Amino acid sequence: MGKIHELPEVLADQIAAGEVIERPASVVKELTENSIDAQSTRIDILVEDAGLKSIQVIDNGIGIAADDVQIAFQRHATSKITSRDDLFRVRTLGFRGEALPSIASIADVILETMPQDASIGSMIHFKGGKLVAQQPYAGRQGTRITVNQLFYNTPARLKYLSSPQTELAAITDWVDHLAMSHPEVAFSLSNNGRTLLRTSGNGNLVQVISAIYGVKNAHQMIDFAGEDRDFQVSGLVSLPKLTRASKNYISILLNGRYIKNNQLSKAIIKGYGSKLMVGRYPIAVLAIQLDPLLVDVNVHPTKQEVRISKENQLADLITTSVANRIGQQNLIPSAVGNL
Ligand code: ADP
Ligand code: MG
Repeated sequence: MGKIHELPEVLADQIAAGEVIERPASVVKELTENSIDAQSTRIDILVEDAGLKSIQVIDNGIGIAADDVQIAFQRHATSKITSRDDLFRVRTLGFRGEALPSIASIADVILETMPQDASIGSMIHFKGGKLVAQQPYAGRQGTRITVNQLFYNTPARLKYLSSPQTELAAITDWVDHLAMSHPEVAFSLSNNGRTLLRTSGNGNLVQVISAIYGVKNAHQMIDFAGEDRDFQVSGLVSLPKLTRASKNYISILLNGRYIKNNQLSKAIIKGYGSKLMVGRYPIAVLAIQLDPLLVDVNVHPTKQEVRISKENQLADLITTSVANRIGQQNLIPSAVGNL
C-alpha cells in the first residue's frame, strides 16, 4: 500500500483558507468583491465585534440560481472564467473559486439568495465545511451571506488575531478601498450598529473620498488624468500642503482592483518634484485602466500583488500626469470633480 493519498475535501479547503482568509477583513473583502462582481449597485456590510462574532454582506446583485447554490461552495467552482484564455482577460475581481469553500470550512455560513426574475430563491447553511441545511427561500432580489463563528475550528488562527480595534481597522481599510474603486456602488459599513462608512453610489469619486478622509481634506485634492497607447490614468492627488507621514494614503486601483505597488506609488510622489517635504507623502487615488492582457492578477491568492507588463512606461505616464497638474500655477481643487 502506498503512503500517498488525497486529502479529504474539508481539510483541503481549510488549508486553502489559510492562504485566502487570514482575518475577518479577508472575509469582508472576499464577500464584498463577490457582491461587486454580481453587479450590485448597493452593498451593505454589517459586522459585530469587528467580525469575530458575525459578518454579514447584503447585496442587490444578480443572485445565484437554485441549481448553482451548492456548487458555489465547491473548491475551484466559479461562474467567472471557463477557459485558459479567460484567465488572461479576466475583468471580475474573483475567478479562483476559493472564497466560499474556504470561508465555509472555518465558520458557520448561511447564504440566502434570490436571482433576478426567479420565482423562488435558496437558503443554504454550511458549518465547518459540512452542509447543514438547504431550503427554498423567498425574499428580495440579491444575496445575503452571514458568517458566524469565524475560525471556531482553527484555534491557532483565532489566537493570533490582533485586538478588535486593529481587526476593525483592517476591515475599514478594505471597505474604504473597495468603495473608492467603485464610486458607482452605494456602500455602507457598520460595526455593532455604528456606521463607519456610507457612500451614495452616484459615481462621484470626490464624494467617496470625503466620506473616507473627511470633507476638508477632499476639498484639497485635485484631479489629474493622462493616457498613452497602453494605459489610461486618472484620479485625485492632494495639494502639496496636504500630506501624511506615511504612504498608506496612496491608493492604486487597477481596473477596479485595489493593489499594492511600490513603483507606482513612487511614481506619484515623483510627480510632485521638490514640492513635498522630506518624509511627507500625499493623499492620492490613482485609477489605472488597461487591457487585462497586460496584467497578471494570478500571482497571489489575495490578488493584491499583480504583475504589470510595461510597468516602467506606466510609471512614467503617472509621474508626467501628476507633474502636469501639480506644476500648474493656480491649483484649484476640484471639489465637484467629474470622476
Ligand atoms: P469566485 O469569486 O472566484 O468565482 P467564490 O468562491 O468567491 O469564487 O464564489 C463562487 C461563485 O459563487 C461565484 O463565481 C459566483 O457565481 C457565486 N457568488 C458568490 N457570491 C455571490 C453574490 N454575492 N452574488 C451572486 N453570485 C455570487
Ligand atoms: Mg469570490
